This record gives sequence, C-alpha cells and structure tokens, in this order.
Amino acid sequence: MDGSKQIPGMCITVLLLSVKCKEVSSREKCQESKSLRPTISVKKMDRVLCPGEHGEENGSVMEHKTIPWQIFPVLSDQQSQGVELVLAYAVPILDKKKTSRLVKEISAVYPLEGQQHLKRVRACTDKASPHPLEMLICLAKPGKEKAEGLHTLSELLPDKQVDCCGLGEPFLVHVPAHPPLTRMQFEEAKFHWPTAFHEDKYVTSALTGHLFSKEEKVKMQTYMKQAIWAAQQGAEKGMKAIGAVVVDPATEAVLAVGHDCRSSSNPLLHATMVCIDLVAQGQGRGTYNFKSHPACSVSSLGNRDPSASKAIRAGTVRKFESRDNGLPYICTGYELYITSEPCVMCAMALVHSRIQRVFYGTASPDGALGTKYKIHTRQDLNHRFEVFRGILEDQCCSLIKDS
Ligand SMILES: [Zn+2]
Repeated sequence: MDGSKQIPGMCITVLLLSVKCKEVSSREKCQESKSLRPTISVKKMDRVLCPGEHGEENGSVMEHKTIPWQIFPVLSDQQSQGVELVLAYAVPILDKKKTSRLVKEISAVYPLEGQQHLKRVRACTDKASPHPLEMLICLAKPGKEKAEGLHTLSELLPDKQVDCCGLGEPFLVHVPAHPPLTRMQFEEAKFHWPTAFHEDKYVTSALTGHLFSKEEKVKMQTYMKQAIWAAQQGAEKGMKAIGAVVVDPATEAVLAVGHDCRSSSNPLLHATMVCIDLVAQGQGRGTYNFKSHPACSVSSLGNRDPSASKAIRAGTVRKFESRDNGLPYICTGYELYITSEPCVMCAMALVHSRIQRVFYGTASPDGALGTKYKIHTRQDLNHRFEVFRGILEDQCCSLIKDS
C-alpha cells in the first residue's frame, strides 16, 4: 500500500493547522492589541494531539475500515411524522370512457385548493370490483357526515355543471392531508390515496444512509473522537463529560476544541458555548478566558477563502456571510461535532453563530435539536442548519453514564 495515503485525518489536520497558525500569528497579535476585550490566552491547535490519536498513526486506517455506528438526519416534524389523513368523498367511475370529461367537470366544481398533491383518479383497490377506477370528488366536512349521514351524488353535485352519467354512488375515503415530503411518507400516503411526490434526493439519501461516503465517515469519526477526548479532559477536572469540536469542512481543519466548563460562577459555559467563543477568539474576538482549561483550544482562522465553502444546503436562509475583515461571521459554513445533543441555549447560540451543520453523538433529555425541540428546523428563525446524530453513539453515551 502507498504509505502516503495512510496518513490519518488527524495528522493532516495538525499539519494544516501548524501552517495556518504560523501564517496568521502576526495578524492575531495585531487584532489582540486593537481589541478592547480582556487579554485571552489561547493555546494553538498544533499543541492539541488527542490522546486517542497518539497511537493511531499506524493503526487508524485499519481501525476505520469498519464504521461501528449509523448516522441519522434529524429532520423537521413535517418530514418525520406519519401521514395525517382527512376524510374525502370519492365515487366509482362506472364508464371509464367518460373519465376525462368527468375529471374536467368535477375539477371545475371542486378544484381541491390546497390539496393539489392528491391525484383525482385512482385504480380501485378492490380487485374484485367491476369498476376499475375511482374518482375523488371533494373533502368531507369533519363531523357533518356523522350527524347528517353520507351525502348522495346529487347532493354533492346539485347543479348541472357536471353530467353525473358514468358515476356511481359516493363513499368516504381517507386521503393524505399534506404532500409527502419523504419517500417513507409517500409510500404510506399512497396506501390511502395516490399523491404526487417531488422527491428530495438529498433527504432520501440522508434517510437511507447514503449521504456520506465511507471516507467522509472516517473523517467524521476522527472529529467525534476529538470531541470525546475533550469531554474526558473536562470530566477529569470535574466538569460534565461533554466535548465538542468545530470544523471547517472546506479545509477539513479543526478550528476549536472545547469541553463543558460550566461552574457556579459561570453556568453558561456549556461545550457548545465554549466552542463558539473559541472560534470567535480565533477571529480576534471572543469573551471568555480558558487559561485554566488547557484542553480548550483554538486555531487561527485567517486566510479562509469564503468561496472555498462547500455548498450550503437545506434550509439555510442566509448565504455565506463575511465581515469587513474577510473572515466569516463566527461559524458560517462550519460544522460542530459534539458528544451530546445541545440544549436550547446552545441551539440558539448555534443559530446566531450561523453554524452550517451539527453532528451529535447521543441524544439528551433536554436536547433542542431533535429530542425536546427542533430549533434547527424552525421556520420562524432567520437561520436553519442541518443536524445529524449517531456518530460513535455508544461511546458518547458512555461518557454521560460514567460521569
Ligand atoms: Zn447547552
């Protein structure tokens, strides 16, 4: 095998970061001197070699040949819920030669506004029926049929706009209330009544586990291992065992490594908040001093070409944002790998910092990215991002259990 191809992702990352740190050190000093914030002592990433990675230069490629976890997208409720059904009137088509005319006339009377996903005609589900086709007439009024009984065809189509010749007597049927958003919903929906389906291939790929290549999963696992290492460092100091890293997917550089640092004097320093602040520090800003937490580290973020950002997909409202100094707005285009699902505060901080993707290992009871809320999918927020769970889930779960 070609030895050069066996260099683990961590080594490449460290090499990249070493170069970057040297290139921007003078700019950093300049920014620090201009900053009104307290002086911040931040360790450079080239010092951060996670213990889990120390002995991996020779063995990690072999280790990563099998990926012992599955990754799942955390979709919106609309995408992940079951198919909601409503009652509708349908009729058998007795003379299928008249189908075209009947569709035209009935559509003019009942255009099914807001229900364009419903097909007007379906093949009869009862194979023994002498009438092979059935036609949707209109939605039923909830409760009315129960009180007044089933409407007849002449009651549903009282005027002369429709020549009812060729139609049988109406019956009630459950139809999907909304257009299916995923293939799973489509399969369920068509069991009740056929619908149109504009498949989102990206979502289908994510749901079927084909969105990420094996090589990408190996890198993702490396990043999560760094987050686990950070969590362990924090736990050794009595912190909650939660760790996180921020990665720039365009360069594959790890920009920040942090762990939970909350204390009675600063209860807000959850791992996510730590990492966002570290990224801000790398951009010459930031608020907190992590001098007493050596595992919390940042890389300098200069020289990032905004056009190098990979295509931002799905729900992200704002496009790549940059400040006057050419640096991205905090986490724009970046990815967070975190051992546990972030809480509401952290999820909102991720919205405000414009994160592109979040990968968390295990769910949290108060989690805001799938468990209790789905902050990342809210239509009333001005930024949305993708969320995936499951990378090294067992190890991430053990961190919490063991702490
Ligand atoms: Zn939090």
